[in-house]
Amino acid sequence: MTPTDQPTTATDTDVVIALAGNPNSGKTTVFNAITGARQHVGNYPGVTVEKKEGIRRVGETTMHVVDLPGTYSLTAYSLEEVVARNFVIDERPDVVVHVVDASNLERNLYLTTQFIELGVPTVVCLNMMDVVESQGGSVDVQLLSELLGVPMVPTVGNREEGIPELIEVALHTAREGSKPGRQVPYGPELEGHVREITELIEAAGGLEGVLSRWVAIKLLEDDDEVRRDVAADVEGGEALLERVERVRAHLEAVIGDDAELALADRRYGFINGACAQVTTTAAEGRVDWSERIDSVMTSRPLGIPIFLLLMCGMFELVFRLGAPPMRWLEAAFGWLGMQVAALLPSGAVQSLIVDGIIGGVGAVLIFVPQIMLLFLAIALLEDSGYMSRAAFVVDKLMHYIGLHGKSFIPMLIGFGCTVPAIMATRTLESRRDRLTTMLVAPLMSCGARLPVYVLLAGAFFAPHVAGKVIFSIYLLGVLLAVIMARLFRSTILKGPMTPFVMELPPYRMPTLKGTLLHMWERSWAYIKKAGTVILVASVIMWALLSYPKPPAGADLAGEAPIAYTFAGRIGKAIEPALRPLGLDWKVGISLVAGLAAKEVVVATLATTYSIEETEESGTRALTRALQADAIFDPLVAYALMAFVLIYVPCVASMAVLWREAGSWKWPAFTIVYTISLAWLVSLLIYQGGRALGLG
Ligand code: GDP
Ligand code: MG
Repeated sequence: MTPTDQPTTATDTDVVIALAGNPNSGKTTVFNAITGARQHVGNYPGVTVEKKEGIRRVGETTMHVVDLPGTYSLTAYSLEEVVARNFVIDERPDVVVHVVDASNLERNLYLTTQFIELGVPTVVCLNMMDVVESQGGSVDVQLLSELLGVPMVPTVGNREEGIPELIEVALHTAREGSKPGRQVPYGPELEGHVREITELIEAAGGLEGVLSRWVAIKLLEDDDEVRRDVAADVEGGEALLERVERVRAHLEAVIGDDAELALADRRYGFINGACAQVTTTAAEGRVDWSERIDSVMTSRPLGIPIFLLLMCGMFELVFRLGAPPMRWLEAAFGWLGMQVAALLPSGAVQSLIVDGIIGGVGAVLIFVPQIMLLFLAIALLEDSGYMSRAAFVVDKLMHYIGLHGKSFIPMLIGFGCTVPAIMATRTLESRRDRLTTMLVAPLMSCGARLPVYVLLAGAFFAPHVAGKVIFSIYLLGVLLAVIMARLFRSTILKGPMTPFVMELPPYRMPTLKGTLLHMWERSWAYIKKAGTVILVASVIMWALLSYPKPPAGADLAGEAPIAYTFAGRIGKAIEPALRPLGLDWKVGISLVAGLAAKEVVVATLATTYSIEETEESGTRALTRALQADAIFDPLVAYALMAFVLIYVPCVASMAVLWREAGSWKWPAFTIVYTISLAWLVSLLIYQGGRALGLG
């Protein structure tokens, strides 16, 4: 070793590179390949951890390479980890080169996520590529690099293959100072808290040299070193730590687990998903039971059938278990209506309370058991980790329509209710994907539309086909969502597909508390809707359907008194547009009411057909009234079901779309497109059916 080769203090043409990696990843081998014999061994200040440095000249530039201690992570649990972490934070190397054993990708990439979180310029050296090949596997380096947002270079350290490329990419990244382009997403629950704390830290000025997001994550992990730094160096640090402590306590109560473990889980899920996307491995002894389950659940031949089976089972269960309590509630509201009717003198007030409020809100609340069961099933699927698998399984199919598997989860939730479905799109990273998903989510037939189908299919189709008819409407919705998503992705939301990681977190036993909480949050939103939007809509519809009353003795030319009311006049006004669909003004009234919420459609039909409280249940009387109406036949009923499926789900969902998309233009567009599409599809069904001699 000559004196001139000794590491010198950095100047403008000097670049400091820190080599990091798990033990035995080939870090020292790569270090030697880069620096040759020009090495210097010392200790990190104050500790007995060996510090090896070396240099390499490339043209005018001198590269100072520092071999960091081998670590698996960057927590503060071992001396090696603290040394490696502090070197990166305090000495600010121009680039971290992370040496990864590519034949052991999952385990090694954990450390990569740590550098991504720190936000330092990072290059991944995918070493041991020869081992990957000799085991009959492969790694899609390009895709992995895009998924994690850091440059990657494949190498074989002991044969010095790929080292010149590695040097070139490292120098380039160092000069540009380019930071990792992705962050590990922590999922809806944790992510909200990470952001909350990040904002607090940001507002307090942050910690020097590191991303506030990283500080937030470390604080949630209760990292001693970072706590100390925050207490010492951040304005109002103590108060901040107290707030973090409260958030952490709340979080741990909700997830029923240690925050640090939960965060690590999401990281592993992120890596697991990325690896599943980029690697092929020769069949080889799997160890982890989570992986063993996945080898079946997400496998090519079985993944989709298992998924379909689970979905069928879920819907079956929800509707079967939900049916009896629904009947009880229906009876209870009927009883309540009669009691109130008996108490109040007949007249406008009685009619408002009994028909308007109890009838309208009751029509919504009777679906609460089914909605709760559906949300319970969804919460179980989410909390156990299967939902991510479902997204993974359908990812390829979703690519076909220009979306990712992740868009699938909001769509699935859309079968319950469009409002939480639109909110669930928050997990999508690309804005285009998110908007596309929000625009087609309303086509997933929500729970509120089901009563309309049940009524119409029950009235106009034989009992043994009614179920299949309803199922075909659900399928029609899915099919239209596929077509519209493709259309949007190639027109108004055109753009390249950005790949991102489909996380595969480990399977977990869902906790009772967490599952119930998730179910309750969503169900409560539904109940709240009944108490607010639908209450108002019911009262408005009641008023429109009741006034003005025809003057006594007026000649109604054989028409029902309802034709005289505001609602009747609105129905008549839009009748010309409905005629080609085989519908008339009476149905028109219900469709207008349905703009507020689909729950009101059936109730409005009942009022329009003047179903009185009789001995038999309201539904049966309405069925008979519809069957007696000459305009209806199975074909018209089907066209009407399609219309109800497709047009605007409800006011609440449009309000949420406005908020989530950030502009009123998106809900406005959705209203126009869904009504046009509904009209067109119903027209095709009715006229097409007629031409074929149906109906
Ligand atoms: P460190 O613990 O990360 O510093 O790892 P070392 O550099 O000491 O390497 C561990 C072992 O892996 C040594 O026997 C190296 O020769 C070997 N090795 C390093 N890189 C490669 C490679 O790309 N392919 C193969 N097959 N072996 C490698
Ligand atoms: Mg070594």
